[in-house]
Amino acid sequence: MDSEEAHQWLVIDGYEDEPAAFGVPPYVGFHVRYLCGVLEEQNIPYQFITIDQLRRLKEKDAQEMNALLSSSKGIAMIAGAVVPGKYLRGTPISLKEVNDFIHQAPTEIPMLFGGWAIRGWRHQGWQPLRKNLFLCVQDTDATLHHFLNAGEWKQQRRTSEQWTTWAQLGATSKAVTNHPDLGTPEQPGPLTYEVEVYQGCVRYKHGCKFCIEPKKGVPIWRHPDDIIREVKLAHNQGVQHVRLGGMTDTYTYMAEGVVELEYPIPNPEPISKLLYGLREDERLNILHTDNANPSIIAEHLEPSEEITKTLVNTLSDGAVLSFGLESADPNVHELNWLNCDSKQLKSAISLINKYGKERGQRGLPKLLPGLNFIAGLNGEKRESYELNLNLLREIRNEGHWLRRINIRQVEGAGFQTVDKDDFTDFKSNVRRNFDEPLLKELFPIGQILRDVHWESHDGRTRLPIHEAMEHRDQACHGKAGVTFGRQIGAYPILIGVEYKIPLETSSDILVTSHGQRSITGVEIGLDVYSVTEKQLEAIPGIGKKSAWKLVSERAKLLSKKQEIVAENWFKSAKIDWNTRFSTFFE
Ligand code: SF4
Repeated sequence: MDSEEAHQWLVIDGYEDEPAAFGVPPYVGFHVRYLCGVLEEQNIPYQFITIDQLRRLKEKDAQEMNALLSSSKGIAMIAGAVVPGKYLRGTPISLKEVNDFIHQAPTEIPMLFGGWAIRGWRHQGWQPLRKNLFLCVQDTDATLHHFLNAGEWKQQRRTSEQWTTWAQLGATSKAVTNHPDLGTPEQPGPLTYEVEVYQGCVRYKHGCKFCIEPKKGVPIWRHPDDIIREVKLAHNQGVQHVRLGGMTDTYTYMAEGVVELEYPIPNPEPISKLLYGLREDERLNILHTDNANPSIIAEHLEPSEEITKTLVNTLSDGAVLSFGLESADPNVHELNWLNCDSKQLKSAISLINKYGKERGQRGLPKLLPGLNFIAGLNGEKRESYELNLNLLREIRNEGHWLRRINIRQVEGAGFQTVDKDDFTDFKSNVRRNFDEPLLKELFPIGQILRDVHWESHDGRTRLPIHEAMEHRDQACHGKAGVTFGRQIGAYPILIGVEYKIPLETSSDILVTSHGQRSITGVEIGLDVYSVTEKQLEAIPGIGKKSAWKLVSERAKLLSKKQEIVAENWFKSAKIDWNTRFSTFFE
């Protein structure tokens, strides 16, 4: 620990994760960037660290981690997931870890914890006692700003000027430049910059009963120029991929009649200005968005059609608009003031499918709807699940595609108990009868998927060991093992390959088979001179024996200094050549 570090604030990214705010790597969330923006504005030295980096530091040298905590001038952290789920690339901070930090850091060090998990844990009765610890339930950045200026803790909200300032300073802050997923110009990482477009929901007067968004009041928008400027600053730091976050509904960004109308009228102009404006910068690679309100789309088909065309033209393929139906049961709909009914949903799904089914450059449908169901809402019965299934059948019978059917359960005060058996039956029915067939249609065998980013070996979760050279070096390519990866963007499909590929690299694959919620593939364009036995074995139609024969035949041909041409090579190894094989070789 050098003396400079001892006078720094420590910003910990405990990762936020909400439907409208992604922040688990490869995403970098906006709230942690705003915190850094506050420190940047005041020229206060600070260090940025992710919770995964901190865990690794603890594993390597617990004393060093303690020294880092205890020598900091102050600690500010965002904790975003009340119950951290399963993630491939990073795990949000847990309540236990937060409690450990509270006990480890000396009491004279001010600590500020914010984010949705802090609110959630407090709601569940968590009341840590420690001098100089402040649990923020409003804007963590504005609260830090107030503390730094007034020397006292007080819940604060940011002004719109502060929003712009901290968003722009956050774009060039250490939350971006020191983020482990940024990579280098030579080997860019998968970092995806979640940018906040607006706050709140147009249903703020009478919103879905289970949702926190209406509590934020009338939505507040950021202007397209403000967002474009922020993203440009992020590009200057090497950021390539962006997701538009903070949008409860992409179609009501700057909509007309938000205060007066139950269904505000979508305004195609500002979203078009934002999306085309972002695309003008050639450094932007993947651009995705999230969430749409099907009732707004269905009630205003004309402007929604225009917005859909803009989305298809500007977003990267594989984009998903999550639709919150929650339940197809009219009774549940009414009791919980839900957002849309089945008729509105089908109309919105049909519009998105009309334009979004076409495949884009990476081999993915350009824009598809996702569908969210919630179990545990008041009024729910066994028949509610049957109504959900009937609706899914109707959607499929009409030939529509859904990229993601998300089923979650809500528990606690204000919700009703879920019948475990009914819920499990419903879930497995959806996975078996809808997810699996959809997966086969969306990612058919033989489909080429481009730019798959490889993330872990021999298991679906990326582990600290995967940072070692043996997992990243070209020398491991084609060796025995399994590699998992995903394309960059929102809700990517998990892809497994039955041999090792150097991690943190990208390549193109051809789909060879389907799992329940993942696919298997083999890279295309393999080099006939270096393709390994394991790689050959992974190609459908070439078994273990043939792969071995091919490798020994190649050795013979090379010893005779003969050129290797795939078809001839197969023939001389006495293996039937199939024209399908040619895609796999350069
Ligand atoms: S539509 Fe309902 S669930 Fe969606 S953000 Fe608004 S209130 Fe929440």
